[in-house]
Amino acid sequence: MDQIRIGRFIAQCRKAGGLTQRKLADELGISDKTVSKWECGNGLPEVSLMLPLCAALGITVNDLLSGERIAKADYQKKAEENMMELIRENAENKKRLALSMVCAAVTVIAVCALIALAALLALPTAARVALIALALATAAAGVGAAAVLDAKAGYYRCPHCNAAFTPALGEYVKAYHTLVRRRLVCPACGKTGMCRRHIVR
Ligand SMILES: [Zn+2]
Repeated sequence: MDQIRIGRFIAQCRKAGGLTQRKLADELGISDKTVSKWECGNGLPEVSLMLPLCAALGITVNDLLSGERIAKADYQKKAEENMMELIRENAENKKRLALSMVCAAVTVIAVCALIALAALLALPTAARVALIALALATAAAGVGAAAVLDAKAGYYRCPHCNAAFTPALGEYVKAYHTLVRRRLVCPACGKTGMCRRHIVR
């Protein structure tokens, strides 16, 4: 999905309907920050908001996902394209998540091997320090790569207001987490909570 194009289209329809971001947000029961995020091309509306959003803007979901009003003649074709695109994006998210787990596992193994080498081999101190430095650098790179892949796969849902959002990478990395939940500040209601991760948009 072309988020920039969809965002511009949302803004254009909203203005054409004489709505402010605030007004549209109130109508959907979300924060105006979320509307602003969509319009900047920073994330798509979650599925449960798509119908109410389209109703408020006077467009169809097919128009929304295409980022333009679809002519009747092209409607079916566009709908099929959009459907395939959504399926493809879901598959990609799952792939990213699997890749991030592999990346984390490889990193752990590499770092353990480097530390074992540093500890077990009879080496001059400088070489030992260099090995440990390399282990730390590998750990940092691996954790970074895994986090980038992981943060991009799917989204989180606020336990208070049920808003869906993707956290900024910095916030994501810092957050206390379990396997499926992460302690994040919700951009919609501003509350902090253990937000559950969702892969499928
Ligand atoms: Zn919330």
